Amino acid sequence: MDNKADESYHTPANFLNELESKQIIKRAGLTVTEPIITKSPSEAISIAQKTGYPVVLKVVSEDIIHKSDSGGVVTGLMNSESVGQAYSSMIAAIKQNHPDAVIDGISVQPQAPPGVEVIIGMTRDPQFGPAIMFGLGGVLVEIFKDVSIRIAPLAREDAAEMIRELKGYKLLQGYRGKPKVDTDILEDWLLKVSELAMNNPRMMELDINPVFAYAKGAIAVDARVLLKDDN
Ligand code: ADP
Ligand code: MG
Repeated sequence: MDNKADESYHTPANFLNELESKQIIKRAGLTVTEPIITKSPSEAISIAQKTGYPVVLKVVSEDIIHKSDSGGVVTGLMNSESVGQAYSSMIAAIKQNHPDAVIDGISVQPQAPPGVEVIIGMTRDPQFGPAIMFGLGGVLVEIFKDVSIRIAPLAREDAAEMIRELKGYKLLQGYRGKPKVDTDILEDWLLKVSELAMNNPRMMELDINPVFAYAKGAIAVDARVLLKDDN
């Protein structure tokens, strides 16, 4: 594994971590669960106390893109003892799964109440420009690829159509006792992501996965931005 081709293949892509990515989408007007980075179990405990329980711990590392696959996400922490334990076992799990990963720290963030999970994304096509994606989260996107896509800039009507044309649209309309989701706010978010992509030509990809959608409002619990290489 020491030839040039392999080296370039392993060059880390220009991904921003969750903290940086959420700052960008927050500035664009989206609501996020804000992570605060910590460097020790005791620091994580003191941040958790300020944040208020329940909290979520996540690994912060440029080398780890899919955090939960690596043991890098723990939800449902209700007190300082469980935060301290989760911190230490997360570091151990990451060291085991990714011995070479550089760990910048462990972030602490409030746990959002359960909602309907949706995904908002953007991929910049070299020819057509930013393509905005909307889909339902979890297995629906992974197995059924139930997503809709439009090229930016989006008008409100485009955003409304993107939501309505999903095969799983019913799940947003109050399904089996679940509340009807605030689709107006999801339209707003699609328009804001469209604007963000139009105004930031260096942003190559954005993945907000998942967004928790509620009867009123929505919150992004994870986000990832890919920037264009400088060279
Ligand atoms: P990754 O996609 O890198 O594996 P996520 O940050 O998306 O990691 O976390 C994995 C899952 O954990 C999410 O899909 C969500 O269900 C849950 N989760 C993550 N952060 C929160 C949070 N702040 N509040 C509630 N649930 C969360
Ligand atoms: Mg995610």
